[in-house]
Amino acid sequence: MEHFDYIIAGGGCAGRSLAVRILPYIQASNKRVLLVDYEEKKSNDRTWCFWEEHPDVFEPAVYRKWDRLSFASKFLHQELDIKPYQYKMIRGLDFYAHTDQLLADQPQLIRLQGKVEKQYTEKDQAYVVIDGKTFSADYVFSSIPQVQEKKPDRYQYFLQHFEGWLIETEGNTFDQECATLMDFNTSQQAGTSFVYVLPLSSNRALVEYTIFSKQELAPEDYSAALQQYIQEQLKCMQYTIIEKEHGVIPMTDHPIKRQQERIIYLGTAGGFTKGSTGYTFRFIQKHTAAIVKQLMESGHPNLPAISSPRFALYDATLLHLLDSERISGEEIFSRMFEKNSARKILKFLDNESTLLEEVQIFSTLQKTEFAMALLNRTIKIMSNS
Ligand SMILES: Cc1cc2nc3c(=O)[nH]c(=O)nc-3n(C[C@H](O)[C@H](O)[C@H](O)COP(=O)(O)OP(=O)(O)OC[C@H]3O[C@@H](n4cnc5c(N)ncnc54)[C@H](O)[C@@H]3O)c2cc1C
Repeated sequence: MEHFDYIIAGGGCAGRSLAVRILPYIQASNKRVLLVDYEEKKSNDRTWCFWEEHPDVFEPAVYRKWDRLSFASKFLHQELDIKPYQYKMIRGLDFYAHTDQLLADQPQLIRLQGKVEKQYTEKDQAYVVIDGKTFSADYVFSSIPQVQEKKPDRYQYFLQHFEGWLIETEGNTFDQECATLMDFNTSQQAGTSFVYVLPLSSNRALVEYTIFSKQELAPEDYSAALQQYIQEQLKCMQYTIIEKEHGVIPMTDHPIKRQQERIIYLGTAGGFTKGSTGYTFRFIQKHTAAIVKQLMESGHPNLPAISSPRFALYDATLLHLLDSERISGEEIFSRMFEKNSARKILKFLDNESTLLEEVQIFSTLQKTEFAMALLNRTIKIMSNS
């Protein structure tokens, strides 16, 4: 049986992020890593948007970035000063090509295309079965989705589902310097929904219709919402659709096992998708960087939690509010952006705010609704544990 120091099971965003970050460590310590995925990753299957203060290792793959964002709803229209952050966009295809390049010709990193059929720990070893063949490792880092039985009586399950069109218009439709983070000027009937617009030039933009709800929509409903937004809000009657993207991201407060003995979960499989927003990219980067730092310092990758459990309570509270219909997502986000600096909100959504900043943000929101939802979720979490 072939043995590796580490096996990275799943070579999507999280697996590749770890593989790139771990390279200097395995070179210095003469370790061997196997990276396995059943896909070749040659298509532009997603676009990542995120904000960050300082350029990170994937800066060369950034396709566009913006210093200015805007927020719109029927209550508020505001330009957001996001300094010291920049809002960035990485296209899936560029990320895969860039990481393929960084990981090429690395004799200590072996790549394999195959299906992971099983992962398990026995004694002090982890094992991965790939297309019928078993490999062993000191540790497995896995972003293969975990199968988790839903418990709707205890936890909340939402979907963030979206369709985006890369469009080209005839005139100069877009301000290239300012991306729209959220525009709620779209129907709120089927759930909290908004559109974001990422301008790539004055006549090209990715326009993405996003909805938080329990069920996906029929394909024609996404198209209808996008058409309506482009015509009524962007005032654009003539345009060509160049590319389409569709996606579903789970939003839940169901805790996910982050480690099972010698298997450490990464990415969405490890619960690094933020329950109330679906943002994952930056959480993956922070987690994989922390793993490598821990390896360098101690030689083992076991980590304490990388953010405080109170953020899980806030996510659960927001999901509860979205579900309760006492108050709309549009009202919550409008009040949040109206009364707080964008910097403070982005820091909060990154799980990096201080308790004082969180109290300041909550004091500006709809207090009765938030207090009731917070209490409801605190009781639920306590009765679940
Ligand atoms: C369309 C879309 C857009 C998104 N946009 C954003 C965004 O703008 N910002 C943000 O922060 N987050 C975004 N997300 C959420 C999140 O960042 C991504 O889903 C991200 O790719 C998660 O990384 P991951 O490594 O956990 O999963 P993935 O990137 O999906 O990687 C998992 C890998 O495991 C492989 N795999 C699965 N099962 C097996 C198996 N049995 N054997 C072998 N290989 C297997 C898959 O082929 C895949 O490559 C988006 C998600 C989607 C779907």
